[in-house]
Amino acid sequence: MGFLKRFRIRRILKYRSIPADLWQQSLKQISCTHHLTAVERVHLRELATRLMVEKNFIGIGIEVDTTMQVLIAICACLPVLHLGLKQLQGWEDILIYPGLFVVDRDEKNPDGVVQHRHKILGGETWQNGPLILAWDHLHNEINNPQTGRNVVIHEIAHKLDFLNGRCNGMPPLHPDMSIPEWSDTLSKAYIKLQHHPSKHIDGYASYSPAEFFAVCSEYFFCKPELLDKEVHGVYQQLGAYYRQDPLLPAIKS
Ligand SMILES: [Zn+2]
Repeated sequence: MGFLKRFRIRRILKYRSIPADLWQQSLKQISCTHHLTAVERVHLRELATRLMVEKNFIGIGIEVDTTMQVLIAICACLPVLHLGLKQLQGWEDILIYPGLFVVDRDEKNPDGVVQHRHKILGGETWQNGPLILAWDHLHNEINNPQTGRNVVIHEIAHKLDFLNGRCNGMPPLHPDMSIPEWSDTLSKAYIKLQHHPSKHIDGYASYSPAEFFAVCSEYFFCKPELLDKEVHGVYQQLGAYYRQDPLLPAIKS
């Protein structure tokens, strides 16, 4: 990182840091951050602060206040806590609708067949495009952590998946990870889920390998005990990728 960039980051953290009260209150609301150590919480605050400066939060039919921005930024930065904010470069806007939104367009399904789709969505993203989300949807998920779902984490998982060009359920892995092991573990679990739907993992995970990775990422952070129990190998691979182990109790430091 060059001197100018370091200087700019230091200024952002010094003058535009998320106020302490708002930070504590927001962190308390998001239960999937509760396992983080004190050091990780400080780091997450820095990343969230920088994300709020670097991205444009654009409400469409809704006013997006700072409290909302902080909640969104926390969810967006949790997956990259040990990967770095650099992973979220190449796009600028976070578009926020008040509730679920409709998309009507032709799309390729996972088999490559183009179909006209009319979908009602809680979130969406694409390579180099904005991250789009429905505020009500995220707010409900935050208030009902037992669901293990989080639309922002889902869309960030897609963003990471896109980093090697294709959103196919395999983001660029670290040099110490094995591509065959990742492919083998996730493919087997994905195919098994397609043939034997789980009572606990949302069926949307079996739509495509990309959705499998994104939905499992949600459970990894929001309901790690469930993912570990249902698909232990997938939990381990995601742990190696995200460089986190949400099942570890926080060591208060
Ligand atoms: Zn998705």
